[in-house]
Amino acid sequence: MVPFLCPICGEPLMEQAGSLRCGKGHSFDKARSGYVNLIPPNAKHAKVPGDNKLMVNARRDFLEKGYYAPFAKAVAEAAVRYLGERSHPVVLDAGCGEGYYTEAMAGALAATQPDVMAVDISKFAAEKCARRCPDARCAVASVYHLPIPTGSCDGVVSLFSPYCGEEYLRVLKPGGIFLMGIPGQLHLWELKKALYDEPYENEVKDYQLEGFFFEEKIPVEARIYLPDNQDIRNLFSMTPYYYKSGVDTDRKLAELPDLETGISFEILVYRKGK
Ligand SMILES: [Zn+2]
Repeated sequence: MVPFLCPICGEPLMEQAGSLRCGKGHSFDKARSGYVNLIPPNAKHAKVPGDNKLMVNARRDFLEKGYYAPFAKAVAEAAVRYLGERSHPVVLDAGCGEGYYTEAMAGALAATQPDVMAVDISKFAAEKCARRCPDARCAVASVYHLPIPTGSCDGVVSLFSPYCGEEYLRVLKPGGIFLMGIPGQLHLWELKKALYDEPYENEVKDYQLEGFFFEEKIPVEARIYLPDNQDIRNLFSMTPYYYKSGVDTDRKLAELPDLETGISFEILVYRKGK
């Protein structure tokens, strides 16, 4: 099994009676749910970094209703297509959230007996992920400083999470696979139309990433129907617009009884060179 690395000295952490401990004696307790907090104490800039409990719960409630199941299915299929031939592939979910996609991937790859690692900067997310995926090893950590050994991963997955190419290239084995999930151009178009006078389409970015070979783009499109206002508000809290929402948007949001909207994602597949 690939060890997590000590966030203080960088040595491998070994499991010892409910804690992870390095050779220099730094020790990190596992929470009851199974995750371990690997943020060094001096690096906690915000008091509670990452998504707060409310946001994590809203996202979990939304995802558990299956609205994004087409995307989870496509991610799982891509993971099998690119990693399913390897035995015991090491797969890192970088920015795992509450583990909805981690679980889908781990399940789809079960025949390979994967070693699934998952990190998120939010401890509320890592806790949910640890409960949802007991076979995955979950840690609170930043994707910009992954507590993961160099050249150890067969696959890295980043779904709607910050991109840190340097770190992903570092932890991937030569020939390793990077799967990135991003919103498509018209993702949630009808939701935006309901809330904004002048909705704008998502920007389509250049697919080339430094250090990676681009393999393919897998588009995922579907329509979903949200029958109640709470689901719509949960969905809205998962979007970047949530942070800049004003009084006018909040009022329109509160008045939406139901919503049918398109959802659109892209899975971009990359390979690290040999
Ligand atoms: Zn240490």
